[in-house]
Amino acid sequence: MFKDKVVWITGASSGIGEALAEELAKQGALLVLTARRTERLEALKQRLPQPGKVLVLPGDLQDPSAIAPLAEQAERLVGKIDVLVNNAGISQRLTALETPLDDVRRLMEINFFAPVALTNAVLPGMLKRKSGQIVIISSVAGYVGTPKRSSYCASKHAVRGYYDSLRAELVDTGVGVTIVCPGYINTEITEHALSANGQQHGIKDKSIQNGLAPEKCAKAIVDAMAKGKSEMAIGGKEVLAIYAKRFFPKLVERVVPKAAPG
Ligand code: NAP
Repeated sequence: MFKDKVVWITGASSGIGEALAEELAKQGALLVLTARRTERLEALKQRLPQPGKVLVLPGDLQDPSAIAPLAEQAERLVGKIDVLVNNAGISQRLTALETPLDDVRRLMEINFFAPVALTNAVLPGMLKRKSGQIVIISSVAGYVGTPKRSSYCASKHAVRGYYDSLRAELVDTGVGVTIVCPGYINTEITEHALSANGQQHGIKDKSIQNGLAPEKCAKAIVDAMAKGKSEMAIGGKEVLAIYAKRFFPKLVERVVPKAAPG
């Protein structure tokens, strides 16, 4: 399915993105890997079965002006993008009141505006070729708000709505949209989460330590991509919160403040 397809993965230097690169490389994809930590991307490239099929394209997705040139560079170097996986993201460990507006913007910039800008940059080529796939990593937090993650949850709700609309616009064009909603996956996400004074949280939360292995998560995502699924959820029992929120909203409202992991 992905043999010789060009797949651009953002946030490939760790966690889900890194595991997606490994899984897609096994399936023969040509990869474009983006994140800020170039050394991690280079090390990943060398570990993959065919490093010659991997382009490391470092970039900071928080900088809106860098996004269109980055996409132009990617298309110039590899010819076309068949699949865009918008995976890069950061989280938060601050109450709404403690979060300065600049940090709210920072979260939205990376988690929402960057995927939108990247998608707008690669979509015209996909539409011309009448083929392509856009993947967006939302979250269970794209359905359920939890304490100390107001802006993170907002960004994950935002991408779900945006990409749901985009899918509707792209019907019959040959370009598909897959929304992914992970639960707890054992990655670096909480360590890099925004904390007080622009610092990183620096701690791997218990829920994440006990979360699903990124390799298992990546396998399930690649399977959903291959099947052209519109949406999928992956994780442990926390994923049930998506359905509980819909059918038992009052119960979720009572449970979430107590159950939210530290
Ligand atoms: P992770 O290990 O911290 O990976 C995050 C990735 O995003 C890293 O490669 C990081 O690379 C990249 N990134 C962050 N800021 C960036 C920036 N300004 N420019 C470019 N790249 C940037 O966490 P993860 O769990 O794999 O996260 C991947 C996605 O899954 C995120 O969208 C996250 O919200 C989502 N998700 C995760 C979980 C979970 O439990 N782990 C659950 C639901 C959803 P650099 O630092 O090298 O730039």
